Amino acid sequence: MISDFDHLLTESSFERVIFVRDPGARCLAILAIHDTSRGPAFGGIRRHRYQTPTQALADVLRLARAMTLKAALAKIPGGGGKIVLLDRPDLDRAAAYRRIGKAVEQLAGALYTGPDVGTEDPDLEQVATATCYVTRPSRIGPGALAEATATGVLAGIRAVAERLGFPGLTGVHVAVQGVGEVGARLARALLGSGARVTIADADAKRCAVLAAENSGMEVVAPGAIMALPCDVFAPCAFGGIIHDLTMQGFKARAIAGSANNVLSAPIHGQRLFAKGVLYAPDFVVNAGALIHGALWHLDGIAPPKERIEEIGPRVGGILDRARSENLPPEVVAERMAKENLGARS
Ligand code: NAD
Repeated sequence: MISDFDHLLTESSFERVIFVRDPGARCLAILAIHDTSRGPAFGGIRRHRYQTPTQALADVLRLARAMTLKAALAKIPGGGGKIVLLDRPDLDRAAAYRRIGKAVEQLAGALYTGPDVGTEDPDLEQVATATCYVTRPSRIGPGALAEATATGVLAGIRAVAERLGFPGLTGVHVAVQGVGEVGARLARALLGSGARVTIADADAKRCAVLAAENSGMEVVAPGAIMALPCDVFAPCAFGGIIHDLTMQGFKARAIAGSANNVLSAPIHGQRLFAKGVLYAPDFVVNAGALIHGALWHLDGIAPPKERIEEIGPRVGGILDRARSENLPPEVVAERMAKENLGARS
């Protein structure tokens, strides 16, 4: 049987995949550029403790391809890329990020990089010692990208709630998984818009602080959030969370959140569709940071909030088209992205 990884390798064309090694820093990183046919590739740096290098390769390829789809749907004059840094206990973190910076510089503007899970502001400053093709929070504004992502997800949830029969967000019950940079902003904005908000985080302190600051926000254990009966489940922790096991107890009516690659495999999108769960494709809903970061690089100024909020009508249009064509929304979204791209996938 052909695996999803094999499918990705054989069916998707990647422009470049580069392995960056620095034995002194105990560094192995992989840079993937999926598509630059519409402009430079954009993609952040993910630092993660992968079990095998193959897992890291699969992750970087999936993420880079998703960035291409994201950019195409958001009508950004750019494409998809990504970098993963294989974390290990003896990694010389600063040296590894500098080495990645050198590799990005050698690409001479084909790839713009920035933050992703595991990469923090000081890491990006290290990257910036070697290249200008990096989004530095100290320049773009601290929290600006997470804010843009949360704004886009909120707009996406509004569109989803409308399709569930709500006139606005008042009374819509949203379960937010992960209240880090994006999730906390989203949870606050939802509450402020009249939604009922339940949160969970592996870091109990984060939930406690957020709930204490926002009266009415409810907290559940991390293991309970995906089985909560609610209107919208908003995954804002990590991807791959919709799989056979989690689907068994899943009771939300819809999914819209910031996490990338929410479906652990395409088959789970089909199963959600069969179950009647409305799924707002991750690469449409979570494009806020890409839109903000890419336009900041390309135009030299931050885009207006309205440009990010266009994600709402875009999500709505995809959900409506999916319903009329009786297809899973992610299938329709991918097809629309490919239409924007021409023939490339
Ligand atoms: P973050 O690291 O600030 O927050 C993630 C949160 O999830 C943390 O609070 C962490 O404790 C929590 N978490 C981890 N495991 C959990 C579990 N099992 N159950 C519940 N909570 C858990 O990350 P972020 O920047 O807020 O991004 C969140 C997600 O959105 C990531 O998957 C990221 O790739 C994606 N995303 C982020 C942006 C952005 O602009 N930051 C843009 C696009 C996509």
